[in-house]
Amino acid sequence: MKYYSTNRKAPEVTLQEAVVRGLAPDKGLYMPERIKSLPQTFFEHMPEMSLQEMAYQVADAFFGEDVPAEKLRQIVFDTLSFEIPLVKVTEQIYSLELFHGPTLAFKDVGARFMARLLAHFNKEKVNVLVATSGDTGSAVANGFLGVEGIHVYVLYPKGKVSRLQEAQFTTLGQNITAIEVEGTFDDCQALVKNAFIDAELNAHMKLTSANSINVARFIPQSFYYFWAIAQLMKSSQSDAVICVPSGNFGNITSGLFGKRMGLPVKRFIAANNRNDVFFRYLQNGFYDPHPTIATYANAMDVSDPSNFVRLFELYGSYDAIKEDISGATYTDEQIAETIRQCYKDNGYLLDPHGACGYRALQEGLQDGEVGIFLETAHPAKFKDRVDAILGADIAIPEKLQAFMKGQKQTVPMANDFHAFKSYLLSES
Ligand SMILES: *Cc1c(COP(=O)(O)O)cnc(C)c1O
Repeated sequence: MKYYSTNRKAPEVTLQEAVVRGLAPDKGLYMPERIKSLPQTFFEHMPEMSLQEMAYQVADAFFGEDVPAEKLRQIVFDTLSFEIPLVKVTEQIYSLELFHGPTLAFKDVGARFMARLLAHFNKEKVNVLVATSGDTGSAVANGFLGVEGIHVYVLYPKGKVSRLQEAQFTTLGQNITAIEVEGTFDDCQALVKNAFIDAELNAHMKLTSANSINVARFIPQSFYYFWAIAQLMKSSQSDAVICVPSGNFGNITSGLFGKRMGLPVKRFIAANNRNDVFFRYLQNGFYDPHPTIATYANAMDVSDPSNFVRLFELYGSYDAIKEDISGATYTDEQIAETIRQCYKDNGYLLDPHGACGYRALQEGLQDGEVGIFLETAHPAKFKDRVDAILGADIAIPEKLQAFMKGQKQTVPMANDFHAFKSYLLSES
């Protein structure tokens, strides 16, 4: 399968090139040339399939031409080494718990898949650059930890990620370097994007991206949308509405790919915090980014989501987008109120991101619809915040406690591309 750039000013590439490059040379994002519909028999058998088997069938539709079947099966099965339960929260609302992986956030799925696919393709030393607003860094760092021939540089905005998130990518050592940038997530993303187009740097060292712009991280996220719908099929429920807490819009766009492959989802809701460029776009058709605002749902503090171009590419027009997707936006006060209310009414503990998703379903579901929100991270990853909101002391899972015991090691960095470039050149 060939991959083309959304800017259409760069040549089409193979899967291997798309994965190693991340971003196309014209700064566009790679898209697969085709999105295959899955056969009717697949959908009929979904309720009986295991998560791994279902995911393999979806993966085969994208990657089957380029990765030997046995290898692809192994990558998918290794990636999904944890469960993804669909938990009933109210009569009409389910939570798809994507936080049972090594770093307790949904990004484990894409990161683990990408690390394994890159290791399959790669023969020489490669450097992974990743900008994180919180959970990407930990998922990528842990997904790649100890993988031979790969060094990971994680750029994160100083003081803007939680203590627990930070511990998960600053304490690993080995082939992982954490870079603490004086700036916002968007600044980190800009440093990474500039590195990829800098000729001198690229002549010196092989660079690749592991942000959600990479097709190898992005496409595998469609797996669990199939899994969620299969769980509803078991109890003959249809008219599913899927609500995705969205920041860079990689996760929801993966779900929209699933729908394009034939997955029966009635409609999608993109839930935002106050960084609501997409919500405002849906109102008036103008895409008008504002400066980034720091919120309780910090992994969604993205003012100009990279994957919007993919979403637009998939639909082609404002009207078509509006048919399938609606939006919601919530303040920190509303997030806090929702966490308290959901815990009181249902005994279910939300994290600040999932809270946006839950609330959008609570406000937006119509009669006869059933809602699934993606619970994108474990609430304990935001323990300080959630404790303050609930006036409680929530338990930290064993997996997270282990990270907290490590020694923090970071490289301080100004928000300045020349400084970043000199550093990378000195390292290579
Ligand atoms: C990354 C992240 C999001 C946003 O996902 P996108 O794919 O960037 O839209 C939401 N919640 C959590 C916990 C995240 O880590």
